[in-house]
Amino acid sequence: MRHRAAVRRGLFCRCPRCGEGKLFSGFLTVGKRCYNCGLDYSFADAGDGPAVFVILIIGFVVVGLALWMEVALNPPLWLHFIL
Ligand SMILES: [Zn+2]
Repeated sequence: MRHRAAVRRGLFCRCPRCGEGKLFSGFLTVGKRCYNCGLDYSFADAGDGPAVFVILIIGFVVVGLALWMEVALNPPLWLHFIL
């Protein structure tokens, strides 16, 4: 459950530890540290780190949608190849 909460905080760009401070100081720019609990964000501040974070979230959403489609619509095999 802790992991799920961290993912939700990431989706709302919140501090992964306290869930209050903003994770990003700007679009795709990770802040130096959480203003609320002081958690250092330098672990995510390496080069394209934030971009990778966003790509992971997008991938998570895409996989979720694919799984939902599989269950809800049971699409034919040719649709999988297109997607
Ligand atoms: Zn914090």
